[in-house]
Amino acid sequence: MKELTHWINGKHVKGTSGRFADVMNPATGEVQARVPLASKAELDHAVAEAAKAQPKWGATNPQRRGRVMMEFVRLLNRDMDKLAEALSREHGKTLPDAKGDVQRGLEVMEYCINAAQMLKGEFTDSAGPGIDMYSMRQPLGVAAGITPFNFPAMIPMWKMGPALACGNAFILKPSERDPSVPLMLAELMQEAGLPDGVLQVVNGDKESVDAILDNPTVAAIGFVGSTPIAEYIYGRGCTNGKRVQCFGGAKNHMIIMPDADLDQAADALIGAGYGAAGERCMAISVAVPVGDKTADELIKRLIPRIEKLKVGPYTAGNDVDYGPVVTAAAKANILKLVESGIAQGAKLVVDGRDFKLQGYEDGYFVGPHLFDHVTRDMDIYKKEIFGPVLSTVRAKTYEEALSYAMDHEYGNGTAIFTRDGDTARDFANRINIGMIGINVPIPVPLAYHTFGGWKKSGFGDLNQHGPDAFRFYTRTKTITSRWPSGIRQGGEFNFKPME
Ligand code: NAD
Repeated sequence: MKELTHWINGKHVKGTSGRFADVMNPATGEVQARVPLASKAELDHAVAEAAKAQPKWGATNPQRRGRVMMEFVRLLNRDMDKLAEALSREHGKTLPDAKGDVQRGLEVMEYCINAAQMLKGEFTDSAGPGIDMYSMRQPLGVAAGITPFNFPAMIPMWKMGPALACGNAFILKPSERDPSVPLMLAELMQEAGLPDGVLQVVNGDKESVDAILDNPTVAAIGFVGSTPIAEYIYGRGCTNGKRVQCFGGAKNHMIIMPDADLDQAADALIGAGYGAAGERCMAISVAVPVGDKTADELIKRLIPRIEKLKVGPYTAGNDVDYGPVVTAAAKANILKLVESGIAQGAKLVVDGRDFKLQGYEDGYFVGPHLFDHVTRDMDIYKKEIFGPVLSTVRAKTYEEALSYAMDHEYGNGTAIFTRDGDTARDFANRINIGMIGINVPIPVPLAYHTFGGWKKSGFGDLNQHGPDAFRFYTRTKTITSRWPSGIRQGGEFNFKPME
């Protein structure tokens, strides 16, 4: 059995806690490796070593730090196929999706090449006689990132890229379900020239997360995962005086107006609802057609498209639309929610419950499901399903459709499909959700904008990547300085220079 490691001070290090988690191959249901789960002592050691390495890295000029990021980007491109294969094997997503996962992280690393530009301070000349005032952005010291299973390359890079570019040391605690790619990223960072100890990868579960939360040297925590854990980490991290940002779950609505191009909307729903088996925080899980005629026409278009979806392992080639979900427990939870939808009165228009894949009977494949006539009180509407299940909620008017998205507890992303500019503009202005698509189903902001949800999808003031990340991973110091020459030039202050 392959035994994975931690990455401490530039080396693979075996776990010493004696606790392990199985790493599954979701396509076959087989255990393919085991990953060590760090104890508090192992986590504290990684943090202490990172704290030793940080001052030199923090004092390295930002342009040089940017060059390490630039070399890292080159190495990511070099190893793209290898990374994607390792990612698909543990996560289950298709190879094109796995490459997309690496690519979107890579783009944030590209953005971080510009660390020197992002970290430039502010300067006011002659704020008073002989007085200059300036501010600088300084690293926090040791920051930590706790990341989810569904983007094991992209989200670790969203966190470590800006944190390292700002001059911090970084502790990455990736998901225990697919830990290989984060370890490979650490190796590539070393090859790119990052000094040992500046990036530590500590594998683990709640015990190591709690150790991060309670370690006084950890100055900041960036978390991405489910909302209950986000709330827990935000609460305990803030109580312990850390800077914390947490991004949680989602229930993303797509409103389809009667004037929308319905073929385009149906195509968009297929990609956004079923792509990556629905295991995306920006997946569309609720379609809200406005008017029964729109709803009937939309369902008519969706059914044949859903029936054509090809579900299979990543090894079956690039025409596979989506792969298995991540664990047997995830599969069981999705199917349980589907049963609850039926029991609570929703109409199951496409039934994927009996889906089986020959030769992969033990894999965690879930067939695509489509519900119609879903209502607010149903569990399939209230909860995040995180699987290939699309719910249709029928609204009579635009205002009613808007109220569904507005009233839902989650506020990550949303979209509207319409040809009417007024409606689209009104929607973008009024909606209480972080990321909005207009005829774009998955409006994921690019690296140089910021990514973050509202309501129960995001906790903390600043978003991920973009300029916000450079604010999150630094603190501002403002200096007021006065020099005698200002007085000689007629200043009015009675300032006596040092003898
Ligand atoms: P998760 O909450 O189960 O795990 C996330 C991280 O928290 C992992 O590193 C895990 O080890 C750790 N963790 C799990 N249980 C813990 C506990 N009790 N105490 C402390 N730490 C714990 O999430 P997941 O299943 O890996 O990821 C899927 C979730 O992430 C979905 O809800 C999805 O919407 C969300 N997500 C959100 C975003 C976003 O930007 N808003 C992006 C991707 C995924």
